[in-house]
This record gives sequence, C-alpha cells and structure tokens, in this order.
Amino acid sequence: MVIEWEGGHRSSYSGERLRWACPCAECRGEAGAPGRLARLKNLEPTELRVQNVVLVGQYALQIAFDSGHSTGLYTFTMLRTMCDCTECQARRSAS
Ligand SMILES: [Zn+2]
Ligand SMILES: [Zn+2]
Repeated sequence: MVIEWEGGHRSSYSGERLRWACPCAECRGEAGAPGRLARLKNLEPTELRVQNVVLVGQYALQIAFDSGHSTGLYTFTMLRTMCDCTECQARRSAS
C-alpha cells in the first residue's frame, strides 16, 4: 500500500507491516489484557495480505485483510509515524 502525502512525500507499507501494527482492541489488547498479536509469533499469509482499504472520515484508513480482519483503524498520524523510508528514518534518528 502506498500513501502519497501532501507535500509529495510517499510512504509504502507492506501488508505484513500493517497487520502487525493493527491498532484494534483484539490485536492490541484492552484494559491491561494482552492482545492477539502479543501471543503470536507468526501469522498466516492470508492475515498479511491487504484486501481492501476504506477511507474513514478524513483521519484514518480502515484496512481489511484477506483473512477478513478489518477492525483496525489506522490513523494518518500513525501511518505517517510508521513511514520507514530512508528520509524518515534519518529524521527520526536525528531527533
Ligand atoms: Zn486488529
Ligand atoms: Zn517517509
């Protein structure tokens, strides 16, 4: 998945990376309880393939995976922070 930001910056994300970053309560855990991703070391390939992306309001993307998992809302703030292009990596390690 590729996002082109205002200002022309482009970020690309693999399905695998997005899946492991899923912010939903099931994956992340709630109220101190560990989520599903904390208990797993590996995910099935179908879990890692992005099937569909839907814009939610102006602030987030809802990403559905082949496995049917689609409860994660990835805010643009989060996605921007996740960008790991060399430029962003350099900026992060500098600060
Ligand atoms: Zn999730
Ligand atoms: Zn970047």
